[in-house]
Amino acid sequence: MPVMFASEIKSGLDCNVLVLNKHYMAIRIIGARRAFSLLFRELAEVVSVEKDKYSNYDFQSWCELSQLKRHFEPDGHDWVSTVNFYIAVPRIIRLLFYDRLPRTEVKLNRRNIFARDKNKCQYCGKRQPTSELSLDHVIPRSMGGKTAWENIVCACASCNVKKGGRTPKLAGMTLIQKPIKPKHNPLVHIHLSHQRYHSWKQFLDHAYWSVELK
Ligand SMILES: [Zn+2]
Repeated sequence: MPVMFASEIKSGLDCNVLVLNKHYMAIRIIGARRAFSLLFRELAEVVSVEKDKYSNYDFQSWCELSQLKRHFEPDGHDWVSTVNFYIAVPRIIRLLFYDRLPRTEVKLNRRNIFARDKNKCQYCGKRQPTSELSLDHVIPRSMGGKTAWENIVCACASCNVKKGGRTPKLAGMTLIQKPIKPKHNPLVHIHLSHQRYHSWKQFLDHAYWSVELK
């Protein structure tokens, strides 16, 4: 499931969930659907942060708590409806049997590039929904351009067409910034700026994540 940016969230299943390992270290971000699957299979538990304290819930007790939350604080959560009831989408889950450390390299993939470029076309600077953007090899592959952080950027459809299979110079276009390899997972920066993901902050202190917290 593609990671959605907060502005695109339409249903609870579009939300993102921070995954901790057994030792409460942040290891990755996944979609709500996958988080529910891990909870349902008892491979993970919910970590719920309230007033800087946190509580742990297995799937069953989270479902029960959700009934109360639905009644008393319906606006405080994103929801997924089942046939019989609503379940609050957890913001954080903890893998019960996984104790490996977070990956130290930021993976070169579509969602991380979109996050690094903040969904902005790197030629015209326009911000677009993920569906309207594609990835562009700055130096085209046909001219020896590599598939690397420094050579791939987000581009909108019209800039992509305009550029064709040329270098920016040949196409008379310029990049709005130099593409670089991010030191930290760029998705984390985007999510921390949204209220719904504030509870992630206290789990992101580990040296690897050392993100600037606003
Ligand atoms: Zn553009």
